[in-house]
Amino acid sequence: MIVGMERTIVRCDSGGLYSTIWIPLISFKAIRFGSARFQRCPVHRRWERATLVDATALTDEERRAAQSIVDVGIP
Ligand SMILES: [Zn+2]
Repeated sequence: MIVGMERTIVRCDSGGLYSTIWIPLISFKAIRFGSARFQRCPVHRRWERATLVDATALTDEERRAAQSIVDVGIP
């Protein structure tokens, strides 16, 4: 479930988990297609595809780790 500007957990193509602001209809900094988009990965510090992750499918540890890595700010 996505509510407003709440951060959502995504997984990049290299398997890194992190939190990002996922705006359902408008994206200021990424090309959207479906539930994936390209954006700068804060884990690997490069542009990668990020895919929405179902947070309920993660372990508590995975969720905590992902929430500690936040893609901050919209330029
Ligand atoms: Zn990555």
